[in-house]
Amino acid sequence: MIGAGVAGLTTAVCLAESGVDVRVDTDLPPGATTSAAAGAMWDPYLVEPADMVAHWSRVTLSDLVALSADADTGVRLVEGTHESRLPCDLPEWGSLVGAHACASDELHPGFVTGWRYRAPVVDMPQYLHYLTRRLAQAGGHIRHHRYDTLEEAMREAPVVVNCSGAEARFLADDPSVEAVRGQLVVIENPGIRSFFCDDTPGAEELTYIFPHADVVVLGGTSDRDNWDLRPDRTAAREIIERCAAVEPSIAGARVLEHRVGLRPARSRVRLIDEPREGALLLHNYGHGGAGLTLSWACARDVAQRVHAALGLIP
Ligand SMILES: Cc1cc2nc3c(=O)[nH]c(=O)nc-3n(C[C@H](O)[C@H](O)[C@H](O)COP(=O)(O)OP(=O)(O)OC[C@H]3O[C@@H](n4cnc5c(N)ncnc54)[C@H](O)[C@@H]3O)c2cc1C
Repeated sequence: MIGAGVAGLTTAVCLAESGVDVRVDTDLPPGATTSAAAGAMWDPYLVEPADMVAHWSRVTLSDLVALSADADTGVRLVEGTHESRLPCDLPEWGSLVGAHACASDELHPGFVTGWRYRAPVVDMPQYLHYLTRRLAQAGGHIRHHRYDTLEEAMREAPVVVNCSGAEARFLADDPSVEAVRGQLVVIENPGIRSFFCDDTPGAEELTYIFPHADVVVLGGTSDRDNWDLRPDRTAAREIIERCAAVEPSIAGARVLEHRVGLRPARSRVRLIDEPREGALLLHNYGHGGAGLTLSWACARDVAQRVHAALGLIP
């Protein structure tokens, strides 16, 4: 396996728990990946192809709901609203999470449409720890190693699964992968219990508020083809201002952390096997702004392909 973000670790867990001998090789430790920087909510955002995304997000939703029963996972079911400054329709995935239209007095000032629902909100650093522990319990290992080419990895194992996120642009020589830089601010939780997302069609800025137990993650930014991992002070100030305009208690809360990650955007998720001479290469990357949302379904799909290639009965 290449990659210890949410795609790599979830795939490694599925493989190791089904009896495959797994080693995850990664340039960055799980806590330093884009996955650790994510907000993160179950939300099919910035990702294609629509038909597969609908299936993958539905499957992964039920996995995340099941995981929310265990507090150690970092997955919690949280209620909140998506709201829009323009009239718009409920997204298709709304029915999966029991979304219903908000009454006008439930909407934040300036918003004219909204829907309320309950969905998984995930503390990503904690969740990646959980996946790492689960992988170790199933006999899998993580090794710090950077590959310059996929061929180098294929000399190490008969099956290689490439979960290198935005870096697949270089490692898999795939120019259709683009980094969409995202920045977030983490604050001490001033007592916020509900999530909020501004879903105004065509909005230039992202605004969202994801409450975790002790902290709140504020978003965000979305900058195409920007690979800069340094937090930008102006962007952070603007994120706080936009979120405080929705939820005034945010204005005085202590800032704990700034996070930056690179969404691996692609015209469509690349989940495919590529037989090479004497070995099998599989790709599982390009999940855009929805890597968590699609993770379990994509991981199982990869695991099935590996089982088929190795002639294993899962
Ligand atoms: C600000 C922000 C908010 C987000 N919010 C959400 C959200 O609410 N919900 C949601 O579902 N998604 C969200 N996302 C998207 C989600 O974070 C990504 O889709 C997901 O993290 C991608 O996971 P990944 O495992 O493919 O890549 P990554 O997490 O980037 O992991 C890639 C791994 O590959 C390794 N690697 C790369 N190249 C090499 C190499 N050459 N050799 C060895 N190892 C290598 C890296 O070290 C790393 O371990 C958000 C993203 C951002 C930036």
